[in-house]
Amino acid sequence: RAMELLICGGAGYIGSHCAKILRDAGYHCVIYDNLSEGHRQAVDGFPLVVGELSDADLLANTMRRYRIDGVLHFAAFALVGVSMREPIQYYQNNIGGTASLLDAMRQADVNRIVFSSTCATYGENVPVPITESVPQNPCNPYGESKLAVEKLLRRCDDAYGIKSVSLRYFNAAGAMPDGSIGEDHKLETHLIPLVLREALFPEDRLKVFGTDYPTKDGSCIRDYIHVLDLADAHLQALRYLENGGVTDFFNLGTGIGSSVIEVINTAREVSDINIKYEKADRRAGDPPILVASAEKAKAVLGWVPERSDLRTIISDAWTWHKSHPQGFRDR
Ligand code: UDP
Repeated sequence: RAMELLICGGAGYIGSHCAKILRDAGYHCVIYDNLSEGHRQAVDGFPLVVGELSDADLLANTMRRYRIDGVLHFAAFALVGVSMREPIQYYQNNIGGTASLLDAMRQADVNRIVFSSTCATYGENVPVPITESVPQNPCNPYGESKLAVEKLLRRCDDAYGIKSVSLRYFNAAGAMPDGSIGEDHKLETHLIPLVLREALFPEDRLKVFGTDYPTKDGSCIRDYIHVLDLADAHLQALRYLENGGVTDFFNLGTGIGSSVIEVINTAREVSDINIKYEKADRRAGDPPILVASAEKAKAVLGWVPERSDLRTIISDAWTWHKSHPQGFRDR
């Protein structure tokens, strides 16, 4: 029979793309989401259970009812800035919620999980490209909460035999190339959606945070990775666990960095709109450069990003934003 997967946070940005890719690969997916950030319209015909991560009973019952074989866990708060102001929320939801999910897995005898971790677990002043052996020393509650979960996952393998893969995403971006789903956050703080919003609705709101960094053009450098390449990594991680792989963690990036100014210039070319921006102060907590070494994921999982050149990422994001200027409200 096809493997049954529970996708926590499957109505959100990355989870909804993953669900579709996994279905194409032959898996059956059930979405579990509280719809706080997720969108019902992003759930493309999958069974949807609306519930909280803290509800271990509902989670365990859902796992039993659908005879779940594995879990993918995308459900978390993910904004560095908010985490500085609301650390309790981040610890409670991201760590407490995951503990509850793992408790439910234990009850329902589910022993495989792929977890969405982040490059924010590394912290500042790390050598680039960042390999997985760089010590993790996060500099904000968001990164701390994800690191705590990575540690808990290690403990859950030792104690209960739950096998896990933690995927440390760099900068997720892009959208389904057919424009059916894409990025739509209540509070948008991410660069590419904000650049494209300025293209659609010129309001002189776009700011480049910091133009005096020690980089080629003075703006920050990030490693942007297409959401479909992330989805593909989840597929490879599941296969790895199915084949008896041990608990492990992997960076998901391209090894190539792009500056904020390069992102804006590429968006100008793709949209053919002269997107305006102004120079602004640095944003607190932003490291100048974050670029992954993706060698381990390639060597162990056989994962190679295929849609993550900056132009493809921005073209796909543009297709989504142009056809859904108000996000999922346009569906
Ligand atoms: N950034 C910017 N203007 C914005 C939003 C982001 O200059 O309106 C910069 C930000 O300082 C960082 C990069 O774009 O260097 C990527 O930021 P984003 O919030 O997308 O992702 P992060 O790297 O913080 O996870």
